[in-house]
Amino acid sequence: MNDIIQPLSDEFENIFFIKGERDGRYPYSHSMLIGDYLIDTGVSSKHLRKLKRNFSINNVINSHWHEDHLAGNRLLATAKFYCHNSDRLLVEDFNSNCKRYYCVENTPADDLFDGLLDLLKVEDTQINKTIEDNGIIDISENYQIKVIHTPGHSAGHCCFYELNSKIAFLADIDFSSFGPWYAGLDSNLSDFEKSIEKLKKFDIDIAVTSHKGVFYGDKQIKQKLNEFQAKIDERDKSILEFLSESKPLTSKDLIRKNIIYKFNSEFEAYENIAEKVMLDMHFDKLLKNNLIEQIDNGYILS
Ligand SMILES: [Zn+2]
Repeated sequence: MNDIIQPLSDEFENIFFIKGERDGRYPYSHSMLIGDYLIDTGVSSKHLRKLKRNFSINNVINSHWHEDHLAGNRLLATAKFYCHNSDRLLVEDFNSNCKRYYCVENTPADDLFDGLLDLLKVEDTQINKTIEDNGIIDISENYQIKVIHTPGHSAGHCCFYELNSKIAFLADIDFSSFGPWYAGLDSNLSDFEKSIEKLKKFDIDIAVTSHKGVFYGDKQIKQKLNEFQAKIDERDKSILEFLSESKPLTSKDLIRKNIIYKFNSEFEAYENIAEKVMLDMHFDKLLKNNLIEQIDNGYILS
């Protein structure tokens, strides 16, 4: 079998891990193939062409609207497309909305995004059917996928759980050391926390994540979910450590202080914007929990 197409289990046939280019690092991501359903298409056009030569893909489920998960949709034009209703507009009208949703319009990251979108050649995708929380997608006689709506990363972000094999696709709840990302206009920190809690209730034997590959065993997967969730608390704590009782600080003051982005990549111009958006979400949360107070435009400890 091809090295980018790997069976996920000896026991359950026709479920494959599809490796993304650059080992699934952004702007690519891993996919899962189950029967003739492919979850996400961000593996790269090269990997997708290879996959198409080996399998027929009649259905595509997009876990959410982000470019690193749907750039390959254009190569599967004859397939039926599915996504959650809350992400539908962004999948169908990606090109005219994405920069606004990433909060990069008229910022130093605007050009960076243009370059990235040129590289990925994302085309708008017409969705044939929306999916919803707890909905069941009938794949074949043996396989049924349960949709787990997990908002927070995007409003319509979904994970998927195959009931017979207990194999799950967790998309961008990806167990990366970076932790949860919630820097979109449709991101939501408190929803993200609830979504991770929701996943912990499932008995998952094998988890495929979009950027960190495959994880085995319910115990290890639960531990990874806990570690991933703990990143949010660590961020809360380090923000509180920077604040004082007298000198108000804003999210701008806390950019590049190793709170969220521990190091910068080639997308640094964007990472500064994302960090600010995420810091603001923490400020809102801390304010709600009465741990901080707002003075002028900044925050102090309460
Ligand atoms: Zn994403």
